[in-house]
Formats: sequence, C-alpha cells, structure tokens
Amino acid sequence: MLADRLGRPVRDLRISVTDRCNFRCVYCMPREVYGRDYAFLPRSQLLTFEEIERVARAFVGLGVEKLRITGGEPLVRRDLERLVAKLAAIGSLDLTLTTNGALLAGKAQALADAGLTRVTVSLDSLDDATFRAMNDVDFPVEQVLGAIDAAAAVGLAPVKVNAVVKRGVNDEGIVELARYFHGSGHVVRFIEYMDVGHTNGWRLDDVVPAAEIVRLIDEELPLEPVEPAYRGEVARRYRYVDGGGEIGVIASVTQPFCGDCTRARLSADGKLYTCLFAVRGHDLRALLRGGASDEQLTDTLSAVWRVRDDRYSEQRSSETAGLAKVEMSYIGG
Ligand code: SAM
Repeated sequence: MLADRLGRPVRDLRISVTDRCNFRCVYCMPREVYGRDYAFLPRSQLLTFEEIERVARAFVGLGVEKLRITGGEPLVRRDLERLVAKLAAIGSLDLTLTTNGALLAGKAQALADAGLTRVTVSLDSLDDATFRAMNDVDFPVEQVLGAIDAAAAVGLAPVKVNAVVKRGVNDEGIVELARYFHGSGHVVRFIEYMDVGHTNGWRLDDVVPAAEIVRLIDEELPLEPVEPAYRGEVARRYRYVDGGGEIGVIASVTQPFCGDCTRARLSADGKLYTCLFAVRGHDLRALLRGGASDEQLTDTLSAVWRVRDDRYSEQRSSETAGLAKVEMSYIGG
C-alpha cells in the first residue's frame, strides 16, 4: 500500500477546476485583493477535463476512493457535468462537489445524471445581512436554501452544509443554523475559521473553538458524540439525542487532525499539493503536456506521496502564521 512518511495512505483527491468565484467571501477571496484587476488564470493554463481525468485515474490506481470537485467556485466552469461523467466512469467512487450554491439549482439534475453522488453547499448564516456581509455579493440566503432543496430532490442527498464560523461575525447564528437543518436529513458542519493563505488577515481571536460551538448547540438541542465512520474523517460528529439527525464540527485549529489526513489536492493549473497549508505544489501539468505515459504519471504521484510529511496544523504557532502559503481559492477547501 502506498503510504507517506507518517504512514498515511492517499484516500481522497480534491480537484480544483477553477480559481474564479462568483462570491467574494471576506475569509477566502476578499475584494481588496480579488477585485476587478486581479489576474485570474488564463484558460490555457487550466487542466482540461481530459487531463484531470488522467490524474484522477492514476490516483484511483494508488488507492483513492473519494473525489471532490472544488475551486474557486466549480460551477462557474462551463460544462462541469462533462467532467463529472468522466470521473464517474472511473469506477465506483464517492464523487462529490463543494459549491456556494449560487448556480446549483439549475445544474443539480445534470450533475446527478452525470453521476455525482453528493454535494456540499457552503452557507455561513441564515440572516441575509450577515450572509451578504460575509460573501460580499448581493445574493439572498433563500437562493442557497432553494439550491439545497433542488439538490436533495434529484438525489444528491444528504446534503452537507458547510458553515465557517468567524467570531463576532456569524457566531450568533450558530444555533439558528443548527435548528433550521435539525430533522431535515442534511448535515451542517461548522468549520473553525482557518489561517489558509494570507489575504484574509486571519487572527486566532477570530476562531470560535469547536468545543464552544458544540456547547452552544447542545444547550438548546441536546447532542451526543458519534464514533467516526472511518479513519481520516475530518468532521467530529454529534447526533441529536431526540433523533433529529447529526451535525459535524471541523476543529482544524483547536484539534488538528494531520495524523489522519489522507488528502491530496490538485490545483486548477495542475499542481499537486500534499497539504492545505503547503507552500509549493508539484507541477503535473508540465508532465501531462510533456507526453508522460500513465506509468510515469503514477510513478510521479507515488514519489510525491511517499516523501510527504506535512502536518502544518499540528505545528501551527506564531511563527507559522507568517509563512508563505497557498490561497484557499486556488487550492479548494
Ligand atoms: N466556492 C465553493 C464553496 O463556496 O463552497 C468551493 C470552494 S471554497 C474555498 C470551499 C470551502 O472552504 C467553503 O465551504 C468555504 O466556506 C471554506 N473556506 C474558505 N476559506 C476558509 C477559511 N479561511 N477557513 C475555513 N474554511 C474556509
């Protein structure tokens, strides 16, 4: 079995299909940096769907069981369902997509028909003013809720709902979000605000610890912990004692899970990253466009994975905050 230096196998591949997004979330793509003049990647530099499929196939040969399409906003990439169909044809895999939901309602059926198995929708608040302040575009919560319903209606269920919690910004709406999805069959996952990249001006004081999130919800809707379903599950799961379903918390700042991290990440321009907080990626595009065989591609992926020893979140300190790091919008969540 292929394992890295810390004995971690490669199980998940996150595929970013674009560095563009139709939102300007303050914690991910702040408008001051990603404004009108920002130079996004030209199309010729993006991997084609055929190139992405090759990398995904090679990774599946090495043990990957789960593919997640992300971005930027993946649904701004035209004909995404064509990529979904190609990835679905690789074999029986967990094939999912993370989206802000803005374009999902109109795409859900085509994505499900192409073979997508599930979807994760980001929604940080049910309050329109807070939601708009966080995503910095004029977009109503109602439309995201409609997209979640549309996805569930075509079988992309249960839907996972990602909520990044930022202290003093949306933490007052945590219980409201939990209550809204309680009993719906969908699972809200509250994510600690992370120091990904540099552009968001992250400070430790902005982080609401997962333990506090669980306590706030438990006071109103009693919870009990659930055993992880598999090694490497990043969300700590809790179920409602009354049978109203589950929530998850992703405590990557206060309770890092590097020891169980089985994720590889492919950026839209074909760089392979072995950590969300990596400084540098390995250029697979040059290899693909240079005529490498499938065997050479597999050998390269194995060689990169074998020497992997990243564990940024466990080493996080005042010194690591200043290190050069890749941006979330480039590498996907
Ligand atoms: N555009 C898509 C979306 O909004 O879901 C996919 C890409 S987005 C980078 C993936 C996930 O990362 C989203 O759920 C987003 O909220 C989360 N995210 C972005 N920046 C983050 C940060 N600094 N800390 C924690 N989560 C973050």
